[in-house]
Amino acid sequence: AFQLFNKEMSNHALEQMLLENSLRHAIERKEFELYYQPQFSTQDGAICGSEALIRWRHPTRGLVAPGMFITLAEQTGLIVPLGAWVLREACRQGKAWLDRGYQFGRIAVNLSPRQFSSDDLLATIDNALDQSGLPSAMLELEITEGAIMQNPQDAVMLLKRMRELGVTISVDDFGTGYSSLASLKQYPLDTLKIDRSFVKGIPADADDVAITEAIIAIAHKLHLKVVAEGVESQEQHDFLRAAGCDMVQGYLHSQPLSASDIEQCWYLGGAQAET
Ligand code: C2E
Ligand code: MG
Ligand code: MG
Repeated sequence: AFQLFNKEMSNHALEQMLLENSLRHAIERKEFELYYQPQFSTQDGAICGSEALIRWRHPTRGLVAPGMFITLAEQTGLIVPLGAWVLREACRQGKAWLDRGYQFGRIAVNLSPRQFSSDDLLATIDNALDQSGLPSAMLELEITEGAIMQNPQDAVMLLKRMRELGVTISVDDFGTGYSSLASLKQYPLDTLKIDRSFVKGIPADADDVAITEAIIAIAHKLHLKVVAEGVESQEQHDFLRAAGCDMVQGYLHSQPLSASDIEQCWYLGGAQAET
């Protein structure tokens, strides 16, 4: 790849270029960490898994959230090596927890649209599982509607082959993209994740309530599980449980935690999750 720069370009472009450079170096220097946010069953409060969320441990800026660099990584293609590292690290960590006897359910890893369309995705997933020894059933892959709809025909085949590896598949930020309900049924999916923007308005906003209930109904008719993202209040939690949502994830229960901090949750099991 190459880039052109002239003095008319805005500070923003310069910022982006500097960021891209430091992102490249950060990958070489392995400056990334995974945080984990637990997911809880609404039935019994037990922990059923966690989502791995990348953080950049920047030498001067401190801990940088993915919102600051994932889009650029996606645009520049750096997401492919970075995403491969995330997969390897999540599988390595999962196996280490397994070996220590922790009950942590599944680990969910986010796949970006670019990763989803990259040729070596299946080999990358397979290698990460193989090298770590993590049972494939303990790995969940999160993809967005957008990534599927970029190339709906190829997506069916790819998702089937991912499923053959034994991993489970969830659709992230569900409801914000553009996926046709007709195609939804032909994809081998396991879980829909209701986007935070809908959860935010419940129970006060009638539209958000309607959308959330509709997503839960569609998911269950298609034999899929439902996770609600961004659950911040007890009211939201109570509504979602009553509406039949299977799992919740959000600040009400836990922020994303470092690997060593989340081990406290594994140790406690579901006990602390009763809300
Ligand atoms: P996402 O996959 O939808 O992840 C959920 C985001 O919501 C996380 O932000 C999480 O910290 C935040 N969150 C969780 N509970 C709450 C809550 O109750 N309230 C609010 N306001 N936010 C909550 P985070 O960690 O900043 O990640 C942002 C996005 O960056 C992720 O959205 C995902 O799209 C992307 N991302 C993170 N890690 C990776 C990665 O390893 N690979 C790829 N491709 N994308 C990643
Ligand atoms: Mg996600
Ligand atoms: Mg999401």
